[in-house]
Amino acid sequence: MTTPESNPESNPVEAVPFLDLATPHSEIADEVSAGWAEVLAKTAFVGGPQVKAFEAEYAAWSGVQHVVGLGNGTDAIELALRALGLGPGDEAILPANTFIATAEAVARSGATPVLVDADLDTALINVEAAAAAVTDRTRAVLPVHLYGQTAAVEQLRALLPEHVAILEDAAQSQGAKRNGVSAGKLGDIAGTSFYPGKNLGAYGDAGAVLTDRDDLAAAVGLLRDHGSPRKYEHAVLGFNSRLDTLQAVVLSAKLRRLDGWNANRRAAADRYAALLAGVDGVVAPTVLAGNEPVWHLYVVRVQERDRVLKECHANKIGASIHYPTPVHRTEAFANLGKGAGSFPVSEQLGEEILSLPMFPNITAAQQERVVSVLADAVK
Ligand SMILES: *Cc1c(COP(=O)(O)O)cnc(C)c1O
Repeated sequence: MTTPESNPESNPVEAVPFLDLATPHSEIADEVSAGWAEVLAKTAFVGGPQVKAFEAEYAAWSGVQHVVGLGNGTDAIELALRALGLGPGDEAILPANTFIATAEAVARSGATPVLVDADLDTALINVEAAAAAVTDRTRAVLPVHLYGQTAAVEQLRALLPEHVAILEDAAQSQGAKRNGVSAGKLGDIAGTSFYPGKNLGAYGDAGAVLTDRDDLAAAVGLLRDHGSPRKYEHAVLGFNSRLDTLQAVVLSAKLRRLDGWNANRRAAADRYAALLAGVDGVVAPTVLAGNEPVWHLYVVRVQERDRVLKECHANKIGASIHYPTPVHRTEAFANLGKGAGSFPVSEQLGEEILSLPMFPNITAAQQERVVSVLADAVK
């Protein structure tokens, strides 16, 4: 078979999508059908051995003691905060440049979100700024492992008072490592998301909490299911946020391939770095020493980003922005009272970042096409 990769001359690349969920599905379609048929035959749609199996597999793969499957990643962060005991009157520190869900989860827990700025080269939380924002009320800091690269959690830990917990937002970092340790095991507890576009994506909404601590896992386990340790016994005021059985089947099938898919993303990131080395006007992402990112997103910085994005789209390159508006500049968080200029690095990132197409099966020819369009656009 002639693929665009094997013969780019005779088969020029036209459109390059931002991501491709169809190809990974084709690799697991048979397993999913068989697994779903089993669930359908038993009509056991909530809970069951599939959920427990996935939780055990994901815990082993991440090197953590406990994985608690949940309805989505935002709930995972909220329930982790609640398990840590945060509520009204408490403060939780998080970066201003993150997906809105991190801040939503804090606000929904009843705690007050305290935003801090990012580092320009990595877009990760500035650990000194986080430490400087600690007050008597601070109970947790949420480093977000943005774009698939872990924050320097051990540096953060060293700067924080002992009683302040670290809750990793690991939604974009499934398989990422820092000094050999997996995202999700770097802090006290972590929340992750299996939204379809994540590195480990379900076929709908799903998420999980990861932790080594028995007490926190038990607390989240109660909260996800109506505060109920046994049927019709309700120990605490809970939620309904369970991991769906059908999703657990998909996640187990995908988990078996995730190391390979992440390796492909790494190879694609290396290829982008090599291609972009010759392009003036595009700043490629920086990787922190000790980090093994999983490249959930490949985010560059350019001047006149909106114009460059338009040119990408005009040339059928599915580029995107993650995220154009830092949390404090959204209407939803106007009540934090942080105007323009409050977090200058996050605001600069919001204006300059551009996410290039990135998915495990992206071809060299597609990446060459992306960089060629980008190079023309920034000229
Ligand atoms: C996707 C994501 C979430 C939320 O996950 P959902 O499953 O969509 O609720 C939280 N934080 C970050 C950084 C994310 O990318």
